[in-house]
Amino acid sequence: RAKEIGKNNYQIYSSLLNISSYKLYALERDLRKAIENNEFFLHFQPRVDASTGTIVSAEALLRWRHPEWGIVSPREFIPLAEENGLILEIGDWVFQQVCYFIKSWEQKKLSIIPISINISAQRFLKNDFIETVKKVLKETKINPKLIEFEITETTLIHHEEAVSSALQLLKEMGISIALDDFGTGYSSLTYLKQYPIDTIKIDRSFIRNISVFGKDEMIVKSIIFLAKGLQMKVVAEGVETNEQLSFLRQQECDEIQGYLFSKPVAEKEFQSLLNKTKLKPNSQLSKMDEMV
Ligand code: C2E
Ligand code: MG
Ligand code: MG
Ligand code: MG
Repeated sequence: RAKEIGKNNYQIYSSLLNISSYKLYALERDLRKAIENNEFFLHFQPRVDASTGTIVSAEALLRWRHPEWGIVSPREFIPLAEENGLILEIGDWVFQQVCYFIKSWEQKKLSIIPISINISAQRFLKNDFIETVKKVLKETKINPKLIEFEITETTLIHHEEAVSSALQLLKEMGISIALDDFGTGYSSLTYLKQYPIDTIKIDRSFIRNISVFGKDEMIVKSIIFLAKGLQMKVVAEGVETNEQLSFLRQQECDEIQGYLFSKPVAEKEFQSLLNKTKLKPNSQLSKMDEMV
C-alpha cells in the first residue's frame, strides 16, 4: 500500500514539477543575485586570421557558475535575463569587466588585442546605453578601437532612427560593429547598406554543413562574396573541422572562430594563447598526425 502511494506521489510530482521547469524557475530566481554573489565570469574565444592562424581578436563570452548546477550555459540564462530585464544590468557588467581586463593587461604589459562583446537588442536600444559606454571608457581610459560590439539582425529591425544614431555615435567613438549570427535573423540586405557595419559573422548553422549540403556551401560562399564587395570583414563562427577551414580559406574568408583553433577559455589561458604567435588547427585529425 505504502509503496503504491509512493509510486502515485512520484507520478504526480514528476508530472507537475518536471525537473526542467523547476530548474527554469530556480535559475530565474538565482539570476537576480548572480552579480552580487560574484557568480559571473568571462571566457575569451580567439578569432584567428584564416590564412595565417594568428590571433587577431577575441570574443568575450559570459559564464555563470551556479552554486547548485555548476556552469550554466548562456543559451539557458541569457533568454531568461532578456525576459525579466536583468540583461540590462548583466550587459553593463560584461562591458565593464572587459574594459577593466583590457586596462589590467595594459598595466601588466600583457598582449592586447581587440575584444568583441555581445550586446542584446534591449541594452542597445535603451536611452542610456551610449552614456554608459562613454562613462566606462572614460573611467578606464582604454582605447575604444579595442572594442567591437556584436549585435544581431534582431537589433536592426527596431526603430530606424534609434538604431542609426546609436551606431553613428559608437562609430564616432571608434568602436566597431559586427553583425552576429548573420543569416539566421531577419536578414535584410538593406541593413548592410544602411548601417555602418564593419564585420559580418556567418552563423555556425551554415558552417556546420559545409561539405554536407551544397546549399550551405553556396550560402557561405555568397555571404563572403557579399561582405567583400561591401568592404566588410567576414568571420566564420563555429569552425570545427579541417574541411570547413580549407573551404573557408578557398573562399578567402578573413577570420575564423571555432573549436578547431580554440574553445572559449579563461583569462589566464587566453593570455598564454596570445603568447603563441600562431594557433594550429587542433581537430581530431591534426592530433592524430602529431601522435604518429
Ligand atoms: P554567440 O555570440 O554567437 O557566440 C558564439 C557561441 O558559439 C559561443 O557559445 C561559443 O562558445 C560557441 N562556439 C564557438 N565556436 C564553436 C564551435 O566550433 N563549435 C560549437 N559547437 N560552438 C562554438 P556560448 O558561449 O555558449 O554563447 C552562446 C550565446 O549566448 C552567444 O552566441 C550569445 O548570443 C550569448 N551570449 C554569450 N555571452 C553573452 C553576453 O555577454 N551578453 C549577451 N547579451 N549574450 C551573450
Ligand atoms: Mg557573438
Ligand atoms: Mg554568433
Ligand atoms: Mg547567438
